[in-house]
Amino acid sequence: MYENIFPENTNALKGESAFEVLAKAKAIEAKGTKVVHLEIGEPDFPTPPHIVQAGTDAMKNGMTKYIQVDGLPELKTAIANNFNIRNNVEVRPEEIIVTPGGKPVMYYTILALVKPGDEVLCPDPGFSTYRSVIGYAGGTPVFYGLREENDFRLDISELKSLITSKTKLIIINSPNNPTGSILTKADLEALAKLASEHRIFVLSDEIYDQIYYDEKPVSFATMPGMKDLTIILNGFSKSYSMTGWRLGYMIAHKEIIDVVQRMMVNSVSCTPPFTQFAGIAALEGPQDCVAEMVAEFRKRRDFIVAGLNAIKGIKCLTPGGAFYVFPNIKDTGLTSKECADFLIDSAATAVVSGATFGSVGEGYIRLSYANSLENIEIALAHIEEAFKKLNLGGI
Ligand code: PLP
Repeated sequence: MYENIFPENTNALKGESAFEVLAKAKAIEAKGTKVVHLEIGEPDFPTPPHIVQAGTDAMKNGMTKYIQVDGLPELKTAIANNFNIRNNVEVRPEEIIVTPGGKPVMYYTILALVKPGDEVLCPDPGFSTYRSVIGYAGGTPVFYGLREENDFRLDISELKSLITSKTKLIIINSPNNPTGSILTKADLEALAKLASEHRIFVLSDEIYDQIYYDEKPVSFATMPGMKDLTIILNGFSKSYSMTGWRLGYMIAHKEIIDVVQRMMVNSVSCTPPFTQFAGIAALEGPQDCVAEMVAEFRKRRDFIVAGLNAIKGIKCLTPGGAFYVFPNIKDTGLTSKECADFLIDSAATAVVSGATFGSVGEGYIRLSYANSLENIEIALAHIEEAFKKLNLGGI
């Protein structure tokens, strides 16, 4: 009906695979089969009550109107204090802008920096929004691999070989979605050296930074000599189980913040104020809720990794962060998509095909363990049963 109506670049904006799998799972459930949901990337815990209370109190107190485009000064100060204490750096409130979720930080950063013809280095496998928005801006995503043999971390020599005179931005994401891998301090230092030599911006997506099990992830904000080239994406969705509140933030040089502030005023005007009061309560209130959630995720991680490795045809590394596992299913002879389809149809378990995160993700599937131990146990039993039908005797 609308042929040739939409500008060409809108074709670059793709959907998000987890939501597509969710729609398929819902259709199966509507016919009466219960599906275990291991596709969606959001904590299954309620938002902690003291945070909900602060949000509802703010609403009752009339915080339901427009406010400053860049965010409540009290929240920006709380973010700066919290970020500085956790990472031992010095970020000032004027280097922060509050956004409705972490995702808009990707969108605004890419639209602010990437000109048609520019290249952006992105992780493969990696979050699909990066490549969608790069294409929308007229740029070209160039992928660097996060390979299993390197614990799903980047290989600095590969990354170096991909840099050209057109490279404008490098995107990193640690802890990573979909693999759960964490970049080491040495990885970040090597990357910072390259980026500063070539004057390339780095967008560091640190949305999972508080969900880690062993080594604490290092923030790219700590890299010396990179302050004017670094953009940090972070937010409240994952750490405080606040996905629906839509609250995130960007930390960057003041001149980048100013451009993004103009993008905000011309798009969403501001982030809802009652949500921002909830954010202050999250940062300034007790942090046991984060520790308890991570302790629960750790139990599930250990359980799902052991369970998957016990199934013939699956090999699974133990991730250091986030709440995803990214097992290798190459021995099944199935593609990632065939495997994900097979698991939803034959094991009533919804997972995401690894290939939807990039070509290096082919041969893998992503399972989110943001679900109860009981449900994970059911899923593992179903997967094991279903895999028996594949007749993998020879492996
Ligand atoms: N970055 C990554 C890697 C993610 O997986 C997500 C959410 O799934 C986000 C950013 C955005 O989170 P939100 O917009 O809910 O803050």
